[in-house]
Amino acid sequence: MPPPPGAKKRVLLIGGQFTGNFCARELKKQFYVTVVDCKEYFEYTPGVLRAFVRPAHLDSLTFTLQPVYERKMGVKFIWGEVKELNGARKTASVKTMFSNNIDEIGFDYCIICSGCNFGPFKPMGESLWFPTVHEEARGHSDWKHIDERYLEGRRRHVLEEYHKLTDLNKKQATVLIVGAGFIGVEWATELEHFFPQLKITIIDFLPRCLGPLPDGAADYCSDYMAACGIKEFYNCKYDPKNPEFWKQIELPNGADEIYVCIGVKASNYFMPAETLSDKGPGGGGWIHFNKHLQVTQKPSLGGGVWADGTIFAVGDCNYGCIGEPGKWEMPPVPKISYPGEEQAYHACLNVMKLEKGQKSKLVTTWWPWGAGMFATSLGPHDACFVAAANENKNSGYMVNWWIPAALQKEIIETTKIDECRDRWIGILIWHFVHHTPVHLFGRGPWFV
Ligand SMILES: Cc1cc2nc3c(=O)[nH]c(=O)nc-3n(C[C@H](O)[C@H](O)[C@H](O)COP(=O)(O)OP(=O)(O)OC[C@H]3O[C@@H](n4cnc5c(N)ncnc54)[C@H](O)[C@@H]3O)c2cc1C
Repeated sequence: MPPPPGAKKRVLLIGGQFTGNFCARELKKQFYVTVVDCKEYFEYTPGVLRAFVRPAHLDSLTFTLQPVYERKMGVKFIWGEVKELNGARKTASVKTMFSNNIDEIGFDYCIICSGCNFGPFKPMGESLWFPTVHEEARGHSDWKHIDERYLEGRRRHVLEEYHKLTDLNKKQATVLIVGAGFIGVEWATELEHFFPQLKITIIDFLPRCLGPLPDGAADYCSDYMAACGIKEFYNCKYDPKNPEFWKQIELPNGADEIYVCIGVKASNYFMPAETLSDKGPGGGGWIHFNKHLQVTQKPSLGGGVWADGTIFAVGDCNYGCIGEPGKWEMPPVPKISYPGEEQAYHACLNVMKLEKGQKSKLVTTWWPWGAGMFATSLGPHDACFVAAANENKNSGYMVNWWIPAALQKEIIETTKIDECRDRWIGILIWHFVHHTPVHLFGRGPWFV
């Protein structure tokens, strides 16, 4: 039912983690905001590896969404999965948690904050790092017996994996980690610290760890891994069916456990195909968007704005770049939380501008300087922090390392979660990170 004349307009946010949480806080005063999420809880993804090796940590990374959204922020929370977004009618079909029917929810503006999955070898992507929450993915899951839409289900999964690792540790088992990007390196070093009897090997098809990050940081991580006995093999393609592969990595009898730490996978199942990319990481399926973050049709269909420009896509769910190699309007932005939140801020500004009738004054998004900041932990007491990386290989500088970098990562974790819980210390610390009208460096305009 449309709102009565003069009432506040309705904004629908699909996803309630980093970017959805940011948008809810930003828009709650001017709009009736509704957040829909498939799961009942927030989970601080960058810290979740620690939870699998030290389950007590999960409690500090998670909180239930409904009390924070409804009682603290004063917005509406729906625990359910968006199954379809209808741009022409401006409705979302939502399967709520305890109903077999589909509800239709109307909106005036919508910001898609639905993130993505990880793990390219599964049809819909599945990994320890992100709970399996979509109805269809749950049907193909390796942990079907657990329902991770509940916080209790997530806790059971964490405990199950922890006990598996404890048994492997007792057996002095071999573990292969496929992919030496920041997730692979963090996982290998967490395992080594908490389960020191494991024999850990990490491989990557690139010539060194940490992908495109600077040599200084890669060398630092490699030295750490070498010092604690983690074997590294580079320029090495994962080919588990080939006995030569196993010989090459000095595991002729295979590994007792394999963790695949590569690749993102789109999970925008609710979007019409006309808005989704044919290409991109994990086989495509990312939401096309323009420089105002409005959802568009795919370029082969003309690339025009979809659904009158009132629907935006921010963070991990979108295509991440505008244009094509050699002719970038915006080169690929890493799928990490800082640029996601920066995009969320730009989308919120644009929703407010549209509401004021300032269609010609929409903010143009940019490659944020914070997209070049990466903190890679090496167990609980060491880490390295890179700043100023960009789309060029080996760009950026390692500006902090060892215990100070590990402390920095912990402070970020604690204060970010505090902010997402809508508590004042976290809000005070993080508010001005994105609300910066004047930009002294980076690729944004001097003044927004
Ligand atoms: C192991 C790991 C470590 C990381 N470390 C860092 C780090 O150190 N620093 C950093 O900046 N970034 C890091 N990242 C990346 C960061 O976690 C993501 O960039 C960030 O979570 C993206 O935020 P988002 O809001 O776009 O999406 P998400 O955080 O993925 O949230 C999406 C939300 O949408 C919900 N949802 C999805 N589909 C639907 C649907 N159909 N209906 C309703 N709800 C839906 C999901 O349940 C979820 O709650 C890391 C990621 C991983 C996996």
